[in-house]
Amino acid sequence: MCGIVAYIGHKPAKELLVEGLKRMEYRGYDSAGIAVLNGGLRCIRAVGRVAVLEDKLTTVDDLEGTIGIAHTRWATHGEVNEANCHPQQDDKHAIAIIHNGTIENYATLKTYLKGRGHSFTSATDTEVMVMLISELYQGDLEQAVRAALKEIRGAYAIGVICANEPDTLVVARKGSPLIIGVGAGEYVVASDASAIVAHTTQAFSLDDEQVCKITRDGFRTSTLDNIAVTPEVRQLEIDLEQIELGSFDTYMMKEIYEQPERLRLTMKGRIKSRDGQIVLGGVSKFTRELVRARRFVLTGQGTAYHAAMLGEYLFEDLAKVPAKVEYASEFRYRNPIIVDGTVLVAVSQSGETADTLAALHEAKERGALTLGVVNVVGSSITRETDAGVYLRVGPEIGVASTKAFTGQVAVLTMLALYMGRRRYMSVEACADLLSQFERVPEMIEKTLEQNDHILDVTKKYVDQENWLFLGRGYNYPAALEGALKLKEISYIHAEGMPAAEMKHGPIALIHDGMPVVFIANQGPQYDKVMLNIEQVKSRGGRIIAVATEGDKQIETIADDVFYVPHIADPLSPLLTVVPLQLMACHAAMLRGHDVDKPRNLAKSVTVE
Ligand code: GLU
Repeated sequence: MCGIVAYIGHKPAKELLVEGLKRMEYRGYDSAGIAVLNGGLRCIRAVGRVAVLEDKLTTVDDLEGTIGIAHTRWATHGEVNEANCHPQQDDKHAIAIIHNGTIENYATLKTYLKGRGHSFTSATDTEVMVMLISELYQGDLEQAVRAALKEIRGAYAIGVICANEPDTLVVARKGSPLIIGVGAGEYVVASDASAIVAHTTQAFSLDDEQVCKITRDGFRTSTLDNIAVTPEVRQLEIDLEQIELGSFDTYMMKEIYEQPERLRLTMKGRIKSRDGQIVLGGVSKFTRELVRARRFVLTGQGTAYHAAMLGEYLFEDLAKVPAKVEYASEFRYRNPIIVDGTVLVAVSQSGETADTLAALHEAKERGALTLGVVNVVGSSITRETDAGVYLRVGPEIGVASTKAFTGQVAVLTMLALYMGRRRYMSVEACADLLSQFERVPEMIEKTLEQNDHILDVTKKYVDQENWLFLGRGYNYPAALEGALKLKEISYIHAEGMPAAEMKHGPIALIHDGMPVVFIANQGPQYDKVMLNIEQVKSRGGRIIAVATEGDKQIETIADDVFYVPHIADPLSPLLTVVPLQLMACHAAMLRGHDVDKPRNLAKSVTVE
């Protein structure tokens, strides 16, 4: 969610910081700001896009300087206005702060600080932090930050500068991502690697409640109690090409098209189809616990929740182990029972999703073994789980998740087979599924060839404000995902549900011309789905079907059909979701929306 970027080095900070903010725009935000040290502290802020800030910057000429901080805000405390933008600053010591996250005890601290004579100009929790740092400042910024953080409850990734210490940048984190890029005599700190890779690919992350003081000559990392720690500087695993648009108009479309290539990487070295074998290095230490597990809880939010739901179906069907999917936000607060032998699987693209992280903590506390199914290497979930499997789908910039969804489903499929093979499944059965699984990338390529047709069909229905997405079995979660894709970027109201559930209420919504998307692949429930299609058709609904290649029967009843190649039912959502992703992307573009930056949404939701 939102973004922070900070710089200290020998280059002009302003340009570099603005470029960093632009790279993080995809994360979702409502306002932006920048502060640079140049003799004194100079701070410029603006509501709206980074472009608005940039315009404003052309009217100021005293923003030179080689140390600075910048921020894109996604408001949590206080409305979206300039006073609430970051950097927030304290005038007494000319200290400025950028902050991602939320401070829980800000109200108490604010009352205390008011009593100490501080006056506030914003409604943010962040201003409380900068005032507290100022209150505790005795000529050493790092010490003041450390002392302030000891008093703070909540989540933060912060960057702090002070006019009295023009060669020092102090950063810290707890529960919010922060990466420190190490260049030659320069450092770029950001909440997202995309703001760093143009400058350096050497980087390290802070652990929770660690502080780093950075000067042009080096850095020192320590705990809040000032115990020095030595972080491991590593190579960032992304390069510039991966985060640039290339020949595509939107990141979402680029990422939909990347799925075949990225899934090949997800599978690479992990499956030996002929031997019916799966190799998952990330969980091999816990094979015994996984095979003997009594129960799995799969958790996530949004698209990751839909992938987790498929995980539930796959684990029960293929590994024959009880599994349950839960929204992380519900699991964490509802006092869940964790019996011995429970494994919690946290599914998250960013690895920073606040609710999923909290669910993970809750499960750990209650003795569960924890696995992460995550894309971003080194993220909080990957660091806090016992084991895990990376998606390897590369940076996902489009806010509407596409390649991360298929990556998550692919990883959960491999996990299900990994356990299934060791529990009940024969080599032959596993080998058969794996040989089909291996062909998923080429099958997606084939599905993508229908893009023009999908665009034409979308045009026919794009003005309709209410859609239903229906599926059964493995394709019920895929229907949920199709509905979510459509609503989140085109703002069309769309509901996904089990096709049979429609009869129990939602059928009342069906009216002449209402688009109803059915996933009607030739799986075990094909005949039942066909029945449901009849029920909608006879009430005037327009049927858009996702069907299996060669199915002629569907053409006699559906108004429009998208075909996917034939594949075993447990693997079918990896294909059926693709036309739905394309349709959502086209619908949003046809309605004139910014596909990659949908309103009110953020890429990784790091607040509750
Ligand atoms: N809680 C802070 C605010 O509302 C920071 C929000 C963010 O992470 O952008 O200003």
